[in-house]
Amino acid sequence: MSSFKEATSKVPTLSEKHSGIPDYLLDKAQDAKALIYETRTKETSTKQRLPVVPQGIEKKRFYEALEELAVQLGRENVEVNHKPLVDGWYMEHPNTHDMMPILDSEELVASAVVYPGSTEEVQDIVLWANKYRVPIFPISMGRNLGYGGAAPRVRGSVVIDLGKRMNSILDINPDDYTCLVEPGVSFYGLYEAIQAKGYTHMWVDTPDLGGGSIVGNTLDRGVGYTPYGDHWACHSGLEVVLPTGEVIRTGMGALPGNNTWQSFPYGFGPYSDGIFSQSNFGIVTKMGMTLMPNPGGHESFMYAFDKEEDLGPLLQMDIIRPLRIGNILENVAQVRHVIQTLAVKGKPRSTYFKGEGPIPEETVREQVRKMPIGDHTWVYYGMSYGPEYIRKYKLEIIDKEFKKIPGARRIDTSTLPSDEYFWSRDRIASGVPDFVELLWVNWVPNGAHVAFSPVSPISGADAMKLFNMGKRRHHEHGIDFLPAFCVGLREMHLIVEIVYDKADPKKRKAANDCLREMIDDAAKDGYGEYRTHLVLMDQVAGTYNWNDNALMKFHDRLKDALDPNGILAPGKSGIWPARYRGRGWELTKTSGNRSEGNGVTPSVATKL
Ligand code: ADP
Repeated sequence: MSSFKEATSKVPTLSEKHSGIPDYLLDKAQDAKALIYETRTKETSTKQRLPVVPQGIEKKRFYEALEELAVQLGRENVEVNHKPLVDGWYMEHPNTHDMMPILDSEELVASAVVYPGSTEEVQDIVLWANKYRVPIFPISMGRNLGYGGAAPRVRGSVVIDLGKRMNSILDINPDDYTCLVEPGVSFYGLYEAIQAKGYTHMWVDTPDLGGGSIVGNTLDRGVGYTPYGDHWACHSGLEVVLPTGEVIRTGMGALPGNNTWQSFPYGFGPYSDGIFSQSNFGIVTKMGMTLMPNPGGHESFMYAFDKEEDLGPLLQMDIIRPLRIGNILENVAQVRHVIQTLAVKGKPRSTYFKGEGPIPEETVREQVRKMPIGDHTWVYYGMSYGPEYIRKYKLEIIDKEFKKIPGARRIDTSTLPSDEYFWSRDRIASGVPDFVELLWVNWVPNGAHVAFSPVSPISGADAMKLFNMGKRRHHEHGIDFLPAFCVGLREMHLIVEIVYDKADPKKRKAANDCLREMIDDAAKDGYGEYRTHLVLMDQVAGTYNWNDNALMKFHDRLKDALDPNGILAPGKSGIWPARYRGRGWELTKTSGNRSEGNGVTPSVATKL
């Protein structure tokens, strides 16, 4: 049982910690924390299977190597992970493991965590890893929850926690609307810095929760909800330490004396940034980001649709697609299912339903009927930008189109109370980071979540196919189905979060099995994931197998050329270095809890 002291201790603020909460969200964070600890029955920490030493190096030599690194970086910047694994929660998350494990929590665990203070120290760590053939795994903030958190893919990797000491905003340019950040800058941190400077003419695009690192989220191709929501598309310029220790700057950054690194992303020659995203080809130490101009007004809107099948016509009758591509619908909008309307209230599902298996739809709707939005199956959350006369023009078109669906209702948002979820979406879509989205994690005790995120065309037939497949698979495994569609520009992601009790091995297995079946089902019909959890990366990478796995063969060649000793994040995105290949490291449908393979090839010395 979690202790009362732990549940009520103060959440660190941004002024105390780079990963802290801004003052304006402290009360919300404190309340969210209390709710999370209320549903927690799991021990707050677990004993470890010690020692954690990566395969391929003897224990004694490994500790000698760590000692050498401690002398180089300072003893306080090298922490051996021999303490119990403490899960914490979103704002006080671990950097040693995945606090939302799908496998046994002992599987994806770091042997040590190191804290570089500069690009030069990142280079030192990389050279050290090459010398001793130790796998290393970079994190910026380590809040990639639902996709693996801070965990390394290979048990015993040394996690490089970049954010702790490299968390400066190096530049904010109020004329070009750009900034340059280090890995430890969160969306909260950048937002606060921009407010503090009084730059109200610039907006920061933010994901549902703002505690993630801008660098980490962008590299993993995360999204936000303003017109600048495609973070990868909005970045400009990287500084990268290569797996052999050299440092490069991409785009205009390669030209000494330039002043356009953050305003022209391409520079000259091949555009190399792409290979550093969702990859294990480099460690990003600086990144440029573009900022959105304040559009001079904004107005959120919300439509409710009655029937599950309404999703079909909404997308199929070419209502959303042309409006989105034509930029009348301007942001990454969400179409959320009614069960999410209930789950985001933050109460456990047992408040409404005590039985086993999926909560009956009628029970959900009975609850939602009592809420200000009223009965519905789908809700569309959108935002219109610009001065009033421009918004009016766009909102009238949207209204006419959406109302083609019989029973579609525009909700009068002025009637909604201030704690209604709608207002959280309103803040996020206008560049103000919030702290509400986390609440649905309390749906079950010891709530953890893992995402299934296939990409599809913006079409009703596709949406309904994915929806029906997902629902069927969830229900076969007795899991509640929580879908939302995020409409990009010419495609949409179905985001399904499986919320499960991480303390229950059966529930973890059900989540894992369900995900694996959905990945295969989706791939058979031509849908692939845009991003996935560490445990599922081999399988997802395997679905991108056109022309006899030509793309993976290309990635393997890049990996071997750039990282000859195979030290950087082995296995990330299904890319395994030569030393690991053919030794059973891949996680598949049948690998159960086992995340490790049978050793690594004794290394042929590659002199750097
Ligand atoms: P966030 O806290 O923003 O969610 P994380 O730090 O958890 O991001 O990282 C998300 C993913 O991106 C992880 O797979 C991690 O390995 C990778 N990553 C994060 N930061 C870097 C970096 N600076 N260089 C290379 N890869 C990174």
